[in-house]
Amino acid sequence: MKARRRGLIIAMDGPAGVGKSTVGGLVAKALGYKFINTGEMYRALTWKALESGVDLDDDQAVLALAKRHHWEFKPVEEGGTTLKTFLDGQGVTLQIRDERVSVNSSRVAANPGVRKFLSKLQRELGASGSIVMEGRDITTHVFPDADAKIYLDASPEERASRRYRQLKAAGQEADRGAILSAILKRDLNDLKREINPLKQAPDALVIDSTHLTMHQVADRILRHVRRKAKRNAG
Ligand code: C5P
Repeated sequence: MKARRRGLIIAMDGPAGVGKSTVGGLVAKALGYKFINTGEMYRALTWKALESGVDLDDDQAVLALAKRHHWEFKPVEEGGTTLKTFLDGQGVTLQIRDERVSVNSSRVAANPGVRKFLSKLQRELGASGSIVMEGRDITTHVFPDADAKIYLDASPEERASRRYRQLKAAGQEADRGAILSAILKRDLNDLKREINPLKQAPDALVIDSTHLTMHQVADRILRHVRRKAKRNAG
């Protein structure tokens, strides 16, 4: 008989800017689970490589860099449920949001050795359950046997508009057209990647959030998860 976990593994995938982190954080909080955004890991390594002058197209050098550092995932505040990435004890939350990192992270994400290395860390993090994990290949590759799988989608135009409003609200310059083309480029990179591309798992609950608020999406996921949990218990 399979050993029973303490809590569920909730896996979530979807394209860039669809609100996976906001929704994942809400779901995790409601359930008292941990939440992790795996894109941060790819971003952290991209940032480290850029900072260290490692050629992003040199797959072996980027993998060696990943293995040279000590990776930790922990909340930034006492009692927090969102696990953030730390490299050699250093938090990287601000650095990894840099535009250069966003633009280059898909090169690092196409590196087969890096994907294998980070997938292993992700499996270790989620193995004991009570976790919401989001990314591009969590439902299909990292946890294909997750207790609940969600594929979150929204039109590229809506995703670009959300990002535009976010930047404006933060008092930053924003160009809606440039944001939309960056989103389309990232979609293409994620969808056409040879290894573990973004795709819908056949048994995932697909939610199109184009006309929904993040709270409405989180509520739908929570209803789905509770149904699954009841079925598992019965
Ligand atoms: O989620 P976010 O957009 O911040 O992810 C940063 C990069 O990491 C993206 O380019 C995406 O392709 C990649 N990624 C991935 N697999 C994951 C999570 C993110 O390839 N599980």
